[in-house]
Amino acid sequence: MSLTAIRSTDQIKVEARQAQKDGGPYRCPGCGEGLTLKKGRVVTHHFAHRPPLTCAWGLGESAEHLEAKMAIHDALRADPAVTEVRLEAPVGDVAVADVLARIRGQWVAIEVQRSDLTAEQVARRTANCHALGVHVLWVALACPGLAGDRYSPRTWEKWLHFACYGRVYYWSHGQVVVPYHFDEHTLYVEPRHWFDRGDLRYGGGYERRSSRWRTPLQGRPAVISSHFQARRCPARRTKTMAVPACSLYIDRHPAWWTAAATV
Ligand SMILES: [Zn+2]
Repeated sequence: MSLTAIRSTDQIKVEARQAQKDGGPYRCPGCGEGLTLKKGRVVTHHFAHRPPLTCAWGLGESAEHLEAKMAIHDALRADPAVTEVRLEAPVGDVAVADVLARIRGQWVAIEVQRSDLTAEQVARRTANCHALGVHVLWVALACPGLAGDRYSPRTWEKWLHFACYGRVYYWSHGQVVVPYHFDEHTLYVEPRHWFDRGDLRYGGGYERRSSRWRTPLQGRPAVISSHFQARRCPARRTKTMAVPACSLYIDRHPAWWTAAATV
């Protein structure tokens, strides 16, 4: 699914919400195949490929994904600090940014995370933007699990958390995102005893750090055009993750999860 298509009659890129059913034919900006205009009442108006689906353009996008990128685009377009905004715009030869915007002179690619993207794909798209001098802001879709006292981040969330210095952004509305920090989560191991060849042994009764769970700590909601700054970041790695040199768009709020921030 995509929000834009090329109109065959004049080769102009049009948005689904402005396009008319009889104004086509429309074709895919990625593969050139014909697209069908879908104007429903529930789902955001969009273009869809006809089966069989062989094109990667707009693959894996959900109704929530379309809604988020349309809302981010519209909010940025109405913002005086933003001089250019493009929906589903190519960045280099290989990637398409969900929203590409020029915010106070900086080019920023806003990528709304698809649930099926891997950490490797996120890393590759981030590196691709860096090579072109475009800053990237990854925005995840709101996740109900974050409201609980423990959360098991997916692999790409862990990658973004590491890349963005302990923050992952979740879309709220318009150009407002809510940052989360994933803190360590401790589990209490119940005390117990058992017999080992006639000897009584004791165990448990202590806390241990969970490898699966994290404690989600919500930060202050942040507005993309006013609370973020462009940052060039060096390559970093842990035992399990590698972040290439990258240009990120990161919020300017001080860390809200450290001891200093809570007193
Ligand atoms: Zn296509």
